[in-house]
Amino acid sequence: MYTVGSKIEEKTGSAFCVMEEDTTKYEWVAQLSPFNTIFQAELLAIQETCLWASKSNQQIKVWSDSESSLHSIASIDTKSSIAQQTQEILLKSTNIKLGWIRAHVGYSGNEAADILAKKATQEGIPTYIPAPRNHIKSLLQKESIIRWQKEWDNGETGRSVHNVLPKVKTTPTPWQRQEIMFLTGLGPFPTYIKRFNIRSSDSCGCGNLGNTLHYATSCLFTT
Ligand SMILES: [Zn+2]
Repeated sequence: MYTVGSKIEEKTGSAFCVMEEDTTKYEWVAQLSPFNTIFQAELLAIQETCLWASKSNQQIKVWSDSESSLHSIASIDTKSSIAQQTQEILLKSTNIKLGWIRAHVGYSGNEAADILAKKATQEGIPTYIPAPRNHIKSLLQKESIIRWQKEWDNGETGRSVHNVLPKVKTTPTPWQRQEIMFLTGLGPFPTYIKRFNIRSSDSCGCGNLGNTLHYATSCLFTT
């Protein structure tokens, strides 16, 4: 039996074929979701093959050209649930042997499965496999940025910083100490000191409101 997973232009397909001598005895094709990876497609093909083979009493050799899938199935701490399920089938079915085969060097079974898997990306039976971790991670990241942006736009604190940095981002802005003081208003300014009840007035000595903008742009004492 030969298994292949395929991914062409965001479409993912999975297939296996059963060969006796040089004739195809059975074919299986499944079309996966665009978010599924070629790794998932390869693993599903192997799992389905083993499931099919486990119902037979014959000795069956399963050939895959996917080293990463075979490693995952051979590993005791694999994270993939498809690989774990395949391990369970293999433990119960001693008639199945799994092996690696080089792709695209003319093994007729591998070539046939490859053609099937390419076809599967277009017209296989739609099959649902949960999205891979990375796909879900990027969806959550996009969603959390949208929510964070909403909170930042509608919030009440940090409005002076919002004027300068209206768009949220996960990388820090390389501000100097003075820039941070100017934009946040956190520093030795009457407006800030009064907020913490250390001073009763928020006026500058010149009589105007003692905030950072005042010192930077209009105070007579700092011109
Ligand atoms: Zn002043």
